[in-house]
Amino acid sequence: MTVHFPFQNSYSALPDSFFARVAPTPVAAPRLIKLNRPLAVQLGLDPDVLETPEGAEILAGKTVPAGADPIAMAYAGHQFGQFVPQLGDGRAVLLGEVIDKDGIRRDIQLKGSGPTPFSRRGDGRAALGPVLREYIVSEAMFALGIPTTRSLAAVVTGEHVIRETALPGAVLTRVASSHIRVGTFQFFAVRRDTDAIRRLADHVIARHYPEVLGAERPYHALLGGVVARQADLVARWLLVGFIHGVMNTDNSSISGETIDYGPCAFMDAYNPSQVFSSIDEMGRYAYANQPRIALWNLTRLAECLLPLFSDDQEKAVAEAQDILGAFSDTFSDAYQAGLRKKIGLFTERDADDALIQDLLDAMAKNQADFTLTFRKLGDAAGDPAADDARAQFMDPAAFDEWARRWHERTALEPQTAAERQAAMHAVNPMFIPRNHRVEAVIQAAVNDDDYTPFEEFVKVLAKPFEGQPGYAAYADPPLPEQRVLQTFCGT
Ligand code: AMP
Ligand code: MG
Repeated sequence: MTVHFPFQNSYSALPDSFFARVAPTPVAAPRLIKLNRPLAVQLGLDPDVLETPEGAEILAGKTVPAGADPIAMAYAGHQFGQFVPQLGDGRAVLLGEVIDKDGIRRDIQLKGSGPTPFSRRGDGRAALGPVLREYIVSEAMFALGIPTTRSLAAVVTGEHVIRETALPGAVLTRVASSHIRVGTFQFFAVRRDTDAIRRLADHVIARHYPEVLGAERPYHALLGGVVARQADLVARWLLVGFIHGVMNTDNSSISGETIDYGPCAFMDAYNPSQVFSSIDEMGRYAYANQPRIALWNLTRLAECLLPLFSDDQEKAVAEAQDILGAFSDTFSDAYQAGLRKKIGLFTERDADDALIQDLLDAMAKNQADFTLTFRKLGDAAGDPAADDARAQFMDPAAFDEWARRWHERTALEPQTAAERQAAMHAVNPMFIPRNHRVEAVIQAAVNDDDYTPFEEFVKVLAKPFEGQPGYAAYADPPLPEQRVLQTFCGT
């Protein structure tokens, strides 16, 4: 049996300036840690074959499968507001693209596969901890229904990577509808290569925004499409308490998927100014700043597209501003609609936004757990005697006052208690990848070569909206001594 990837590569057919051809660097002793079997099937790959030693060699970058055309993609990016004209895949190689069972083109990329011409001072490698972290969190995001890159596999390389200490090396196989970023456009914009920008925009339209093809002004419509998807994406992040942590323009996907799981984390207690990333000293990428940053990144994209809009610079800028102006309403509509669902409203009334804001304010003041407050509110919708939501508040009386108004509001709707509870449980997860759990799972793997906790965690997170008997403890917030205060990039 040989591993067959039905590659149909389109990005490597673009001009040479878009990438560097580079094969993964072979590693000593690949061992498969985890294969995402359902995803393999979705991609048209045989999971049984991928689980053979030959499969592990491919997933570790030791052997290049037939039909692959390995490249490192070129991109630039604003990192914490500072422009870097050349970043690029410094530790990743795109093997190629396959068309999945739904007809969607998907990149198959090895992350941690060795140096490339874009590695700068880096070693091109990834440590096991961050690889497991990306696997866990990206697959949890997928299960939560949030657009995201996926994780097909994790392998250990049998080699060490040197960070502060020597750590086991690993490779993640990342799957994305593409790895094209805002920074990919910036790479060409800073080089004033308008032909390349047009080429890239055409590629993106064909691949991600085919609905724009017939538009009178397709490049304007493209920007509008990216604005809409990013606005929706960030709303979804906020609705589950997700903090990306490093929303640089090179980590901002044109397709509207969550990409690059570095220091990301879910918040436990609700705190709009929450930051976890050790390198985000100014709180630029704090929870509640994320919509503003997404718009800032989109503005950088708009700047790149200006030459495609009009030769008249002033006109082009006015048109771009007009399109960017839609971000705010698109985001707010998605966010407020999501919040109404989270508190079990089926209809919309003028006073709803204030009702929701008062809950959020009380949660912040009382350090209420974000996930559990909403989940247990669903229980309270089904059974007014259920008081676990109340128990999330340092001062439970703050909840009582709000709950009285909430019950009055929900009483205006015809749905039964059971219907409301079911609707709320379908949008308010019980299980999120809580930081302290992620850390514990990584420690067991890295220190003890024990992947049982990882396997169990991944399994629980695959059904975030279902109560899972026997696994209830995974829903618990950290005890004070378990709290994780900082996360790291892991590069
Ligand atoms: P990230 O912080 O993961 O978004 O990466 C930012 C940039 O640094 C990208 O160009 C990466 O390819 C590059 N990079 C990160 N880690 C490494 C590494 N270990 N070796 C080479 N390049 C890296
Ligand atoms: Mg990145």
